[in-house]
Amino acid sequence: KMRVVIVGGVAGGMSAATRLRRLSEETEIIVLDKGPYVSFANCALPYYMSGEISQRDSLIVESPAHLKKRFNIDVRPNTEVVDIVPEQHQVTAVHNGQTETLQYDRLILSPGSKAAIPTIGGLAEADNVFTLRSIPDVDKIMADLNKGAKTAAVIGAGSVGLEAVENLTKRGLDTTLIEAGDHILPFMDYEMAAIVSRETAKHGVTLKLKTKVNRIADHFLELSDGTQLQADIVIVAVGVVPDTQLAQKSGIKTGDNGGIIVDDRYRTSADDVYAVGDAILVNQILTGERVSIPLASPANRQGRQVADVIMGENRRNQGGIGTAIVRSFDMAAAATGLNTAQLKQAGIRYQAVHITGQSHAAYYPGGTPLSLKLIFDPQSGELYGAQAVGKASADKRIDVLSVAIKHRMTVFDLPEFELSYAPPFGSAKDPVNMIGYAAENLVEGLSENIQFDEVDAAVKAGAYLVDVRNPKELTRDGRLPNAVNIPLDELRSRLAELPKDRQLIVSCRSGQRSYIAERILKNHGFKVKNLDGAFLTYSAAY
Ligand code: FAD
Repeated sequence: KMRVVIVGGVAGGMSAATRLRRLSEETEIIVLDKGPYVSFANCALPYYMSGEISQRDSLIVESPAHLKKRFNIDVRPNTEVVDIVPEQHQVTAVHNGQTETLQYDRLILSPGSKAAIPTIGGLAEADNVFTLRSIPDVDKIMADLNKGAKTAAVIGAGSVGLEAVENLTKRGLDTTLIEAGDHILPFMDYEMAAIVSRETAKHGVTLKLKTKVNRIADHFLELSDGTQLQADIVIVAVGVVPDTQLAQKSGIKTGDNGGIIVDDRYRTSADDVYAVGDAILVNQILTGERVSIPLASPANRQGRQVADVIMGENRRNQGGIGTAIVRSFDMAAAATGLNTAQLKQAGIRYQAVHITGQSHAAYYPGGTPLSLKLIFDPQSGELYGAQAVGKASADKRIDVLSVAIKHRMTVFDLPEFELSYAPPFGSAKDPVNMIGYAAENLVEGLSENIQFDEVDAAVKAGAYLVDVRNPKELTRDGRLPNAVNIPLDELRSRLAELPKDRQLIVSCRSGQRSYIAERILKNHGFKVKNLDGAFLTYSAAY
């Protein structure tokens, strides 16, 4: 009888265990987890702080007793694996101070990741600084909050940091979010994240970008901008690193950031030792690099697939592109594939296009703006990445685009997508179709664009900026610096006002009318570019 030992009993580990059992009644399955709970909902933890998830029991998806009863899995919480000897197919585990050795035929590692801890003076000694990774973490946070904390600081503006500030604010705390980078949500690009920042600030969160914490002492934070911040409670959420000390110590090969190197069947460098989840490096399909994608959906899929591999199925890890979503109050921010920072780092040439659509048909009540960005190869139109921000249906657009990107489609495929439509749900020309049209125009050379962060320099270098909105909109929404205003419907009759020998840049509110202006002007022999995303993107960024 084969014995499979699994280290880590949450997303990847427990998916592997239950799939193994569904495939085989014979196999002995033992799951060891150093924490007090297996199968808990990591992703739910932030929402428990505000009471939006009110029952602590809801954080625990499965109990060891039920896993034994339904799946005949031997689940051992509070049991830390401290050593692996692959040559002897043996692990050493510690439970309640007792050391035990266990033999295995196959070993699956799903130890997850751990919170990265920045080096900040006084952090280690402070009694009010927490990470948010596990149920014991959130228990400690809740105990502190229940003592009557009034002010909070969250260090790090990734997904977990943003979820933490939302939930602490909803709980009534005066909350500050501190981020060293120039924008929140590092998986998004600057101008898309800026829309979310605005929403977050609107709900009362103080945002401190390009700011570091120098010291923590006596419930005060000394910040790099020279100010001091009072905080009863501090949550550190500056990212995660693979929790792979055990694997490394046992001689299992890891990559640059400590992630375990596996082949496409999840085999590590040690015979009969497999690894899945946050702890492994996977092939980033678009760049061919080995990367870490620490998210729940890949961990669950990999857990299932490694069970298939162990039971002899011809299953392969296809790699990943990375797809994520987060909510900040009423706004959702979602992204898939590569962002521009990642493309630059990989040395891949790209072009971007922004549109602002509606979550559903404009004439049906309740629609909200949806900002969408698409990134693609300027020549072939191959899709690289997409980002969406909006109060509704950002998830739908990014999920559709993630399928397109993972399956290596191009901008030319997007207009062909037949997306479900009735007025309460979408538009006959869905934003995904529309951004496909816009990108197709760029690849085919019908349109040329210039980005929000390039326009000021272009104007300085002699370009002539024309804003084709109506004067009323300028008064209501604001002006673009150095732009001449000629409303679109007057453009044909006022062509003589425009210089033929200079580069023209046209802008409007969202980029749709300026595209019409671009075509009119191009057909009259002007040199012209469209300000991508127009006033909405420019004003979100600056
Ligand atoms: P985990 O689920 O972390 O499980 C690893 C387990 O291994 C742990 O229980 C640990 O105690 C145990 N372990 C480690 N070392 C040992 C050892 N030596 N011996 C015994 N046991 C060991 N992802 C999303 O996609 N969407 C979200 O909204 C989202 N929100 C999140 C919110 C929070 C607060 C957190 C913490 C994570 C969130 N994630 C989210 C990430 C997601 O939870 C992880 O990607 C996923 O759980 C990874 O699965 P895993 O099996 O690799 O590791």
